[in-house]
Amino acid sequence: MSAPMKQKKTAANVRFGDVYNPATGKVIKSIPFASREDVNETVKKAQRAFEVWSEVPPMRRARVMFRFLELLHKNADKLAAIVSTEHGKVTIDAQGEVQRGIEIVEFATGIPNLLKGEYSDSVGTGIDSYSLRQPLGVVAGITPFNFPAMVPMWMFPIAITCGNTFILKPSERNPSPSLYIAELLKEAGLPDGVFNVVNGDKEAVDAILHHPDIHAISFVGSTPVAEYIYKTGTGNGKRVQALGGAKNHMIIMPDADLDQATDALMGAAFGSAGERCMAISVAVAVTDKVGDALVDKLTAQIKTLKVGPHTDKKADMGPLITKQHRDKVCNYIKAGIDQGAKLVVDGRKLTVKGYENGYFLGGCLFDKVTDKMTIHKEEIFGPVLSLMRVKNYAEAVKIINAHEYGNGTAIFTNDGRTARNFARDIKVGMVGINVPIPVPVAFNSFGGWKRSLFGDVHMHGQEGVRFYTKLKTITARWPHGPALGANYHFPQNK
Ligand code: NAD
Repeated sequence: MSAPMKQKKTAANVRFGDVYNPATGKVIKSIPFASREDVNETVKKAQRAFEVWSEVPPMRRARVMFRFLELLHKNADKLAAIVSTEHGKVTIDAQGEVQRGIEIVEFATGIPNLLKGEYSDSVGTGIDSYSLRQPLGVVAGITPFNFPAMVPMWMFPIAITCGNTFILKPSERNPSPSLYIAELLKEAGLPDGVFNVVNGDKEAVDAILHHPDIHAISFVGSTPVAEYIYKTGTGNGKRVQALGGAKNHMIIMPDADLDQATDALMGAAFGSAGERCMAISVAVAVTDKVGDALVDKLTAQIKTLKVGPHTDKKADMGPLITKQHRDKVCNYIKAGIDQGAKLVVDGRKLTVKGYENGYFLGGCLFDKVTDKMTIHKEEIFGPVLSLMRVKNYAEAVKIINAHEYGNGTAIFTNDGRTARNFARDIKVGMVGINVPIPVPVAFNSFGGWKRSLFGDVHMHGQEGVRFYTKLKTITARWPHGPALGANYHFPQNK
């Protein structure tokens, strides 16, 4: 790769991006976007920091995480408020995301144990063998808008405690949680250059993808970008895990408790205004009887859904992230109607008093959705729940397995055998049995199948430790006595 041209930074050549409060539609700040040159400078800083940080014993690296953990607990509400202001999600939801992030930091404090290698005594006469897990160097994370605190925390606590240095490129739509996290890490005593934030868009991402001194990239975002990151990153010799979009189905069997299933669908479809990669966006009702009952129950509950700004403590869900995104979701709703689905509840008419310029959309329910419709094939990422009706379990599984995405799924049933079969039959990475949003906890690993994940390794848990380290195996002999002469056959243990 040729060296980048040095460009002098002037006010005129810095690009800025506006950050909005989605509840009001007002610009609340403007952030400078990193150029390629800025990224290169950050990589240099991170490389210098790596020389020292990678030599710090894991237990001392863990101690920094313990201090960071204390600061997170102390400032969790402040971080959640920063998340809500730029994302729009309601306070309790933002607090939940911060808590889930904190749990990864808790996991990372156990790094001395997690990095332990293996030792094999006497693999040959007088020969022992042992393994080490060593950090990769400078690694990067590129994250989406929908979990601006939790998703970065899926990555950097493990990357850093493994001994790497980290460059985070958060979503340009809500960069402030990452900047606040950087402040807390500094206060916790993390040396300069170990954790770095670069703000920006495709230019910064491309600089990361092509930089020869960045050794691994963790990405979370939409599938087209995930695929691009994976292909470009691996093409440039980097280790890449790129998590993409989703379309998550929940099967409701005739023996399920329909009140419980309805409550579960409400939270999973409309929580965070449907802007979750683990949101349930399709309810698959097994039999028309179940479908009819669910439509009645869901309609009644959607009508009581309270939509408002995060400052309204009674709000169940907030606005969508941008006007463009709300328009995109509304276009999907129109496509659903045009293609013959029945719009039972139409959230497009909703207005929130005092917040008329916010990007709000009420909860929507479609009935009679089929697998040929755009609203079933594509990810909507909004408060739109589609209901499909099938005759039996096998038909439901076939629809899910044929879908291009395979992030999350769930079944509601009271039959153990159906549940067991589902867990085994379904081609999806994260499966819930009477659990609508089966997000794995910190010490397990998060990741989908099919076009919901490009790469082989899931995020956090042991998979995270593996992703951010290289395995080295040492075979050692301490000879004594005279040399025995050269030996030309392959080493063996006869
Ligand atoms: P996005 O793909 O638009 O953006 C993600 C990141 O990629 C951002 O940092 C952005 O700046 C960058 N980016 C965007 N376009 C780019 C381009 N052309 N080239 C290089 N970089 C680019 O995603 P989003 O809208 O921020 O987030 C929503 C998406 O993320 C949804 O599809 C959702 O399903 C997905 N998501 C997936 C998971 C998961 O675990 N699978 C988790 C959360 C979100």
